[in-house]
Amino acid sequence: MLSDKDRIFKNLYNDLGSDLESSLKRGDWNGTKELIKKGKEWIINEVKDSELRGRGGAGFPTGLKLSFAPKNVGSREHYLVINADESEPGTCKDRDIIKFEPQKLIEGILLASFAVNAHTCYIYIRGEYFNESKILEKAIEEAYAKKFIGKNACGSNWDLDIYIHRGAGAYICGEETALLESIEGKKGQPRLKPPFPALVGLYGCPTIVNNVETIAVIPTILKKGAKWFSSLGKPKNTGTKIFCISGNVNNPCNVEEEMGISLKELIEKHAGGVVGGWQNLQAVIPGGSSMPLLPKSICDTINMDFDSLIKVGSGLGTAGIVVINNDQDIIKCFARIARFYKHESCGQCTPCREGSGWMWRILERMSKGEATYNEIDILSDVTKQIEGHTICAFGEGSAWPIQGLLKHFRKEIEKRCFEEPLIKKETKVPYLIDQHLLEKDNA
Ligand code: SF4
Repeated sequence: MLSDKDRIFKNLYNDLGSDLESSLKRGDWNGTKELIKKGKEWIINEVKDSELRGRGGAGFPTGLKLSFAPKNVGSREHYLVINADESEPGTCKDRDIIKFEPQKLIEGILLASFAVNAHTCYIYIRGEYFNESKILEKAIEEAYAKKFIGKNACGSNWDLDIYIHRGAGAYICGEETALLESIEGKKGQPRLKPPFPALVGLYGCPTIVNNVETIAVIPTILKKGAKWFSSLGKPKNTGTKIFCISGNVNNPCNVEEEMGISLKELIEKHAGGVVGGWQNLQAVIPGGSSMPLLPKSICDTINMDFDSLIKVGSGLGTAGIVVINNDQDIIKCFARIARFYKHESCGQCTPCREGSGWMWRILERMSKGEATYNEIDILSDVTKQIEGHTICAFGEGSAWPIQGLLKHFRKEIEKRCFEEPLIKKETKVPYLIDQHLLEKDNA
């Protein structure tokens, strides 16, 4: 278990107060000017040496990402953009950082902005986080009043302005280029890459986009040292992480733990165990709804870090752990998830726009015992037609959960399907269009 001295987010449960004065007592904004004095390269190298990987889902090395910003500012301004969209079902960590540790985020923004030559930072926060955006606004005002940000931030000779941009509730705006489009006032749809945002980002300028948690841990890494951070967890999977545990557990919670902790320990020690006991566990989605599920046999021994989860065909994603016990209808659960993705597809790519609807409709009928055996393979085929054939990773995010279901719960699906010719005489294409479901969805 993580010791208190190694905890980065000491106020995750708001026991100590989230206002600026309380944050100062916890060490926020302590020595920030000295850290800036050490220079941009030192900051980037220290983050590189810590082996910090992005906490927003993809797990890209943060130091490397910061280093992608052009070294010198040309005719185009540089921007830092914070992704606080946090729309992945099962994920609610950034919300608590904003509510209870906002100064850690703001201090991290100053250090990262300096490192990437940005004088302006936008925080893109999801529209539903209304209260959180108000708290953040107040925290930014407090930081301005103390001259921690603004002109000559912390007396460092670096000017920094921070703006909050509220989204309007589209899941896809968590994808970094859709997010940039949305800030620019356009429809939130992902851009084709390359060019990547580090060179052509917001308003066509070099832009580094990072998740809230990623930026909020940077001040502590720089103060305590890269060696301290990389001594926690495992090589390439270092440091601590906030895990969000929800679903069929007795005590759903957010908890900061060392990377590589066992899933069983997380659920049993921090979330009060599975409802009905560990034996009643059916499956776990380990990293937000877009990651493939793990059946109980894997959950018994798996560790929660990027590489361990990839080895078993899933991923750490946002570390949003959704626990599903035997009281749930697993096919219905995934029909529900498929419906979410169908609803959230931005519609630019045909495989994603059409495929997400196919997957939902087939799963919906499978859950009711109205699908045929043939459709199991059709469903599998549709997931493969989406995966790798789309502009953004949403395609994979919608296909992987279904692939995981087919891989681990095929027998349950087969039990619910029946032997029938694929195309009935009276119905032309029964599995493609289900008028009843379409009407229900449009309602
Ligand atoms: Fe839009 Fe889906 Fe294509 Fe992403 S994969 S750009 S969400 S249609």
